[in-house]
Amino acid sequence: MFDYNAPADLLKDRVILITGAGDGIGRACALSCAAHGASVVLVGRTLSKLEAVYDEIEAAGHPQPAICPLNLETAVEKDFNDLADQLFDTFGKLDGLVHNAGLLGPRTPMESVKTEAWLQLMQVNINAPFVLTKAMMPLLRAAPDASVVFVSSSVGRKGKAYWGPYAVSKFALEGLMQVFADEQDGTSNIRANSVNPGATRTSMRAAAYPGEPPEKNPEPADIMPVFLYLLGPDSKTINGQALDAQ
Ligand code: NAP
Repeated sequence: MFDYNAPADLLKDRVILITGAGDGIGRACALSCAAHGASVVLVGRTLSKLEAVYDEIEAAGHPQPAICPLNLETAVEKDFNDLADQLFDTFGKLDGLVHNAGLLGPRTPMESVKTEAWLQLMQVNINAPFVLTKAMMPLLRAAPDASVVFVSSSVGRKGKAYWGPYAVSKFALEGLMQVFADEQDGTSNIRANSVNPGATRTSMRAAAYPGEPPEKNPEPADIMPVFLYLLGPDSKTINGQALDAQ
């Protein structure tokens, strides 16, 4: 596991947006960031799941989160810009942006992948992170020490048969991270890095490996050290890196 012990107040006064915050790794990231003092902005497509995370954070007495339902598949640029305006009015800045939401999509030989499924997956896994990052730039610039985290995968670093558009979208995400990080390097207060979670006990993992005993893999909460590290001040000089959670 990535070796980092986060102090309890690591993210105090920070505002952190997480996509796909209602389930799996995104949910764990939201709970963990809130437990370390951040005001978290919960973005996702299923309101009831976001509400459950909101309630859990409130019950624990952590900073009050914000719920922003957004379907990354159907959202248009104006929706992302409206979200940015809303966050500007409420918080005035964004210290952390975690591009976590993702679809697994079809895992079949490339020639069998339906074009419609390819386009749907690219919309969620790569186009939405691009447009969301663009929309959040004024808010990220308004934060003294902003960190953007792209959640990738091992198949986004080395291609693998039958991983189809998912693998290709993660390569694109790594590319977006690298280009963006290089542009920010030495010119802004913003850094960007990617994280490969590794096999983690979520519904996406279960869908990808239906025969695997779930307890073989760590819980999402177990892989949080690398996220906390990247979202807090200790990673200030880390930019353009591809990190592993495990
Ligand atoms: P998950 O449990 O399936 O969670 C994915 C989250 O993304 C859910 O909250 C889901 O919302 C959200 N989402 C999907 N489509 C969306 C859309 N159109 N608009 C808004 N939100 C959407 O998967 P996970 O395992 O936590 O995966 C999180 C990230 O880690 C993904 O980027 C994945 O590729 C990456 N990853 C996971 C593993 C692993 O072993 N688990 C390994 C490598 C990489 P709903 O709850 O509404 O469905």
